[in-house]
Amino acid sequence: MFEKTIRFIQESYSTTKFLPLHEPVFFGNEKKYINECIDSTFVSSVGKFVDRFEQMVAEYTGAKYAVATVNGTAALHIALKLVGTDENAEVITQPLTFIATCNAISYCNAKPVFVDVDKDTMGLSPKSLKAFLETETVQKNGLCYNKTTGKQITAVVPMHTFGHPCRIDEIAAICDAYNIALVEDAAESLGSYYKGRHTGTFGKIAAFSFNGNKTITTGGGGMIITDDEALAKHAKHLTTTAKVPHSYEYIHDEVGYNYRLPNLNAALGCAQMETLDTILQNKRELAAQYSDFFAKQNIDFVTESPDATANYWLNAILLKDKSKRDLFLKETNDNGVMTRPIWTLMNKLDMFKACQSTDLSNALWLEERVVNIPSGVRL
Ligand SMILES: *Cc1c(COP(=O)(O)O)cnc(C)c1O
Repeated sequence: MFEKTIRFIQESYSTTKFLPLHEPVFFGNEKKYINECIDSTFVSSVGKFVDRFEQMVAEYTGAKYAVATVNGTAALHIALKLVGTDENAEVITQPLTFIATCNAISYCNAKPVFVDVDKDTMGLSPKSLKAFLETETVQKNGLCYNKTTGKQITAVVPMHTFGHPCRIDEIAAICDAYNIALVEDAAESLGSYYKGRHTGTFGKIAAFSFNGNKTITTGGGGMIITDDEALAKHAKHLTTTAKVPHSYEYIHDEVGYNYRLPNLNAALGCAQMETLDTILQNKRELAAQYSDFFAKQNIDFVTESPDATANYWLNAILLKDKSKRDLFLKETNDNGVMTRPIWTLMNKLDMFKACQSTDLSNALWLEERVVNIPSGVRL
């Protein structure tokens, strides 16, 4: 039934061999910088590439500060901790996300609360957020508390699904009104903009991921960005074992983490950042071709909204219903074209089943229909 689609994807990549969903590409200074690292012996947690990589990401996104971390989950964990998330807290997020979002909340010993997503952006719905806050929370001493559990809601964590920005300006305004920190999970959205501003710069703090499957990679890695100098300094401190600077003594003034990004990985990151614009252009060309093709097949292809520029990290289509989706998954994967359904909703997983949630009709609707198709850069 989907032969035409399979053929189109194979022709787009000029191959009939197995097609993965996403692959890293290295066509810049990667080897050169990694060799420099090795020659200098600075392969570990300090070195010029860490500083340079942080500067490059700060500059690219327009954030004042950037702090590199060992992965995106660690970046989110520290970001949530920095805004006061602990065992007495709750964090509002979307059920339609990768597990890392909820893991980071759990590492703070806090509980997620799930609000619905918008169908068009696949990201947290400002409407659903506002409705929950209006009816289910109270303000005490200028802070927001959940009426049912009595716990403080310290953060709202929207996620820019597959690189498509959610309605982040509306979400930011709601967070301001309720005095809740906006922590953007921008793991998937390096190179994505909303109303001309880079994702991750709308709230107090944000996290990026440079895992091997993301738009650019450091092997494994992450980054915290913020405009708040005190938060940035604390982020660096917490991610580097909370060591008090001293030329030889070991004094640590709080429980810190070994969440530093090694210089070796940062070297890869610097080279990847240099090629980011080429990568994005390449991905946008593929997305445009997909968009034309699927329009003719009468299959919905997810495109950027008029307010957004997407990085098209993972391209996504919407099948008519679950049985069509299952058929599509089977036919494509059987023919060496890797496709994948969107994540199982977080509120369905054993660890988060008991968590509070709003009506999640949009998330449920998307869960049955969204499929990712090959999206890697074509060299
Ligand atoms: C990739 C990703 C992360 C972070 O993942 P790491 O593998 O730890 O770098 C966080 N949230 C989302 C939504 C992601 O896709």
